[in-house]
Amino acid sequence: MNDQRTLRIGEVTLSPGMQHLAEALATCMQCGTCTASCPVAHEMDYTPRQILHLIELGMEQEVLSSRAMWVCASCFHCTARCPRGIEIADVMAALRNQATAQGYKPDKVMTFSKAFMTVVNHYGRVFEPELIIRYGLGTNPLALVGQAPFGISMFLKNKLPLRPDRMEDLREVRAIFDRSEKERSET
Ligand code: SF4
Ligand code: SF4
Repeated sequence: MNDQRTLRIGEVTLSPGMQHLAEALATCMQCGTCTASCPVAHEMDYTPRQILHLIELGMEQEVLSSRAMWVCASCFHCTARCPRGIEIADVMAALRNQATAQGYKPDKVMTFSKAFMTVVNHYGRVFEPELIIRYGLGTNPLALVGQAPFGISMFLKNKLPLRPDRMEDLREVRAIFDRSEKERSET
């Protein structure tokens, strides 16, 4: 079965990063355990199992323009339960890198993902007001005006801090970001 699947992959033209990924997934038997284990599969346009199948079929554009990898929460449930030992969470991370490297237009999920990571990089934890502003500026700035009353209401109920709760020692967090950036640039 593996040889046939690899041959099918070989019939289509994939970019080098995707070809490597497709070959690594050749043992997938499409059992769907990954999708059944995924807590956010219902929010994806293609489930984890479908993403692996699309890669196998060489449908690179569909995969890289999908929002599935941006919805992925990197919880590793799929990786832990895959009977074939496929590192699906790592595949999702690799797809995010590929999509970014190949200039696929960022959608709202990607904008949120970047805003979230920027805020965590700054403070070591989430600071909601900055996250909302960064996301709003990157998607629909006018919507921020409409959300102002809600923000004020949250603030008056002590649900929205005005100042970030910054970690005392950010070195380990920054080291994770630096390593991630280095690995992404090497992909
Ligand atoms: S759980 Fe593993 S073998 Fe099953 S569909 Fe997902 S990746 Fe393929
Ligand atoms: S790592 Fe991503 S794809 Fe896998 S179960 Fe978690 S959210 Fe779903």
